[in-house]
Amino acid sequence: MKKLAQFEPKEVFFYFEEICKIPHGSYHEKALSDYCVLFAKEHGLRVFQDDLYNVVILKDATNGYEKEDPIIIQGHLDMVCEKKNDVVFDFETQGLQLDTDGQYVFAVGTTLGGDDGIAVAYALAILASKTIAHPALEVVFTVSEEVGMEGAAGIDLSMCRGKKLLNIDSEEEGIMLSSCAGGVRTYSEIPVKYAEAEGNKIRLEWSGLTGGHSGVEIHKWRANANVLMGRLLLSLHRKHEFLIAAIGGGLKDNAIPRESYAEIIVSTADATKIIEQINQMVVAYQNEYCVSDPEMKLSYSLETSYSGTALDKSSTEKVIGFLNCAPNGIQAMSMEIEGLVETSLNLGIMDLKESSVLFTYALRSSKGSAKEALCDKMCMITELFDGTIRMSGNYPAWEFKKDSDFRDKMCRVYREMYDVEPKVEAVHAGLECGLLSEKIADLDCVSIGPNMSGIHTTEEKLEIASVKRVWEYILRLLETK
Ligand SMILES: [Zn+2]
Repeated sequence: MKKLAQFEPKEVFFYFEEICKIPHGSYHEKALSDYCVLFAKEHGLRVFQDDLYNVVILKDATNGYEKEDPIIIQGHLDMVCEKKNDVVFDFETQGLQLDTDGQYVFAVGTTLGGDDGIAVAYALAILASKTIAHPALEVVFTVSEEVGMEGAAGIDLSMCRGKKLLNIDSEEEGIMLSSCAGGVRTYSEIPVKYAEAEGNKIRLEWSGLTGGHSGVEIHKWRANANVLMGRLLLSLHRKHEFLIAAIGGGLKDNAIPRESYAEIIVSTADATKIIEQINQMVVAYQNEYCVSDPEMKLSYSLETSYSGTALDKSSTEKVIGFLNCAPNGIQAMSMEIEGLVETSLNLGIMDLKESSVLFTYALRSSKGSAKEALCDKMCMITELFDGTIRMSGNYPAWEFKKDSDFRDKMCRVYREMYDVEPKVEAVHAGLECGLLSEKIADLDCVSIGPNMSGIHTTEEKLEIASVKRVWEYILRLLETK
């Protein structure tokens, strides 16, 4: 049964529902990519599909629009696959189970992929139409945006003539995004050695932290469970000897970690005093983060006769040292756009491997030079603790253009439709516009989208009325000369 057939715009919700039937998590976009290719062929449109499964579809201008500049409409094919713990769902074989409360569309127990399925639905609906007036259209669907923008990095756009790009990958109606941060993942690996250890084992676990997205929520100054564990271990280590037997925390480089754990081996004589100190520190940390992380808690357990292995003294000191010397969180605020974070990093994952502890960071900046400087700093600090550093998923910032004809036109059309001024904003997170700007000289981009909340989580919701308004806006934009 078609769940969304009752909603307007019918053609947009039709394609959105079709997309949701086809599994399309990151790195599994082939089926949806093939669907788009088949769609283009059935509609007599020129289509290109590359080895990554990126798709470009070209459609000629409609009558009277032949002389207008072509417009590139762009979105990504992949979605983040998250499901509730108690839900059995296979993202590689099953279509999403859509539902609605009349106001929002969501998926039962999983992410919805409104990010960025709605862009694909809008674009297909425009391509399929015989009545919408528009200049030449170049529709670009990329893959693997959510895992490092590999599609945008690898795509060939030499078939495109357009210099104006409408990216539909934002989540707040009425905002014309015009700049985003560049980013890179860094992996600092601190080598460790093991030694025999005996005594009492204390297991420490941070939980209940608020967490959040390491880009768009980094300005909320929330506690990072990995960093907090580092602080606790350092303050204990200033007064007591111990060895680390286990340490870890966090699931994703770009999520502020909500949980972390460590096991330390202490002497029997010290155990009570350490636990006393732990209790004092926890109260202090809870006080420090009472606004951002009111549910934060530390639990611990004591095992009295431990005999096994642990990191040796020097390795223990290096791990604590690195955790406390490496920067984390906001590093600089923009001096051009008030309230915008310019440079930040997040220790997303720490993981004890066989012969090292691996610290994975998501690092961002809207200034290329500031990103490079922070990378250099991370290299130095890692090397100071005898470690090695690797980087991956480097993508450039999309820097703010002072003069943008396309943005001016988009603002003008918005003003005419709604009689309010749209907001021109920048975001401390990644969009593909930076990479795409490297492919086409003088590319003029703006990113928009209908209202969505809870993206990348099982709470993801897409606002139906907003989908309609943004659709009407896009059509007006296309028909405005
Ligand atoms: Zn997206």
